[in-house]
Amino acid sequence: MQIKQQISEYLQQLIHEAANEKFDPASYKYLCEHLHIAKMYYTVNFGSKDRYRDYRTGKLVVANEEEDQKIILYDSAQESGEKLDYVYDMNGQEYVHAYMELCKDIDNSSIDYDFYRFITDTVYLFTSHKSMRHMLEYAENTDFTTGIPNMACINRKYHQLIQKVSPSDLVLMRVNLQNFKYINEVASPKCGDEAIVQYARKIVKFVDEDEAVGRLGGDNFIVFIFKKNLDGFLKKISGVTITQLESAPKQSFEISAWVGISELEEGRDKPFLERFNEASVACVLGKTILKKSVVTYSEELSKIVNQGHDIIANFRPAIRNNEFHPYFQPKIDMRDGSLVGFEAICRWLHAGRVIYPDQFIPILDKEGLIPELDLAILDRTCALIKKWKESCLDPPTVSINFSKKNLFVPKVEYTIMEIIKNNGLTFDDVEIEITESVREAESERLIEFIRNLKDNGMRISIDDFGTGYSSLALIHSIDADVIKIDKSFIRQLPDDTKSRVLLESIISIANRLNMTTVAEGVETVEQGKELLNLGCNIAQGYYYSRPVDWETATKMIKNPVFKLME
Ligand code: C2E
Ligand code: CA
Ligand code: CA
Repeated sequence: MQIKQQISEYLQQLIHEAANEKFDPASYKYLCEHLHIAKMYYTVNFGSKDRYRDYRTGKLVVANEEEDQKIILYDSAQESGEKLDYVYDMNGQEYVHAYMELCKDIDNSSIDYDFYRFITDTVYLFTSHKSMRHMLEYAENTDFTTGIPNMACINRKYHQLIQKVSPSDLVLMRVNLQNFKYINEVASPKCGDEAIVQYARKIVKFVDEDEAVGRLGGDNFIVFIFKKNLDGFLKKISGVTITQLESAPKQSFEISAWVGISELEEGRDKPFLERFNEASVACVLGKTILKKSVVTYSEELSKIVNQGHDIIANFRPAIRNNEFHPYFQPKIDMRDGSLVGFEAICRWLHAGRVIYPDQFIPILDKEGLIPELDLAILDRTCALIKKWKESCLDPPTVSINFSKKNLFVPKVEYTIMEIIKNNGLTFDDVEIEITESVREAESERLIEFIRNLKDNGMRISIDDFGTGYSSLALIHSIDADVIKIDKSFIRQLPDDTKSRVLLESIISIANRLNMTTVAEGVETVEQGKELLNLGCNIAQGYYYSRPVDWETATKMIKNPVFKLME
């Protein structure tokens, strides 16, 4: 009676502690001692090489191929005798074996198997309940793909730390990988998944104990560290090498990052989310407009953001007011200085000043507004070509820029052709410039876009050639008339041998495929001569002329006098 009473008290205490989420081996220690239990454990077999979570740490573990995973619930360190074995199954499959080993000296006849089963059941139930809670906590705080903290966890850790240190001692950063898309596109998405895991595990080691790194999703990370460690961290993150991926064992990738930083003046404080926002703004502006890999947030930056908002807000009214104008940059045959074409390049004449494309194109592109601009410029350009024709001039073909975002506009090819026809022009009056640097998934659409236009007799020019990932591979599948070699290659001429070798192969492949090559950004005689040597005859660049307004372009058509390359 007394024993029963005692056991029931222990059981009550156990249930009470479990209900208060305090359940642990200490809770059932006395019960085990009382019942002469030497050891209690369970083993789990998840099949070979399966991943599962350790219920205590919440960490992912790979189960040993041979051995079952043994999880000890209680161990008195006494020598054990009789072993009781209970099996729990899940979904009809044998899943968990629970074991209980009784003390050696226990009298076998006094063993109440059902009662012991009841005890293992209870302990097992509470343990698994606890492990479930651990898993939930883990899921709440962890980025599933990489196993590193997530945003919620970083938020919590930050708040814990600022109980001890001043917030202005800490810098908060947003990190976005620079060339991660490259791995996804050129290697494979699987390779990208693996790379992000390896990358995350590497960068968590860049920070000290109280500091933290978390993943926001995709190729975005959040970090907070002590100000004094910033330089060291930035140095490490500027180039992280990823190697020995299962899906690309022989390749190695060097990953650099865009970093946006939120810093506070000594003694100041700001809410975590505001700091995160600042770091994000700095990171995005570094990537899009400033083209700087490390940017610290400042009031100046918020002005740029406001300008961006202004651009978006002013865009549609500006389209209605005809504020966007095509300027014309001549394309010249370097052999005889003749005018063979123009490129229409957009200028925004707004409130008495000229705004250059670098200031608004990236923003409109990001906002998805760029197709509207491209079609408006096409329309304006066609109208201006018509005017030349009406004054009995014979203008050369004018190329018009189309951002790759146009590929998402259904049937945009037909809209383009409609606009040309509605302006009373023929398809050989204009040429479409589009960049080849599209993602692999979009390249099919690019090929279709080009085919639809070509089938109707339009000319296509591939802009900024050589800046995409797979330029040379794509050149075969794209049926273009013109290849425009990006200015970055020309800038390196004539000194850089690597550029020359690349140029040589681009030009010779293009010539063999009957495509014309146009070199962009030609500024010097030396560059021009080198291009002529390599077999590229047409140039567009400041050496001949900057983009000019319609009136000046009209003079160029009437009297095409351009310098020779000598
Ligand atoms: P892009 O299509 O590569 O246009 C050529 C750019 O190179 C122009 O810059 C032009 O002024 C510049 N450039 C020409 N010759 C030289 C040279 O000898 N040296 C140097 N350093 N630069 C030269 P811009 O006008 O600033 O235009 C920048 C970009 O904006 C264009 O690059 C194009 O991508 C985009 N853009 C301009 N107009 C439009 C448009 O109507 N639609 C779209 N989608 N994009 C446009
Ligand atoms: Ca262009
Ligand atoms: Ca270009």
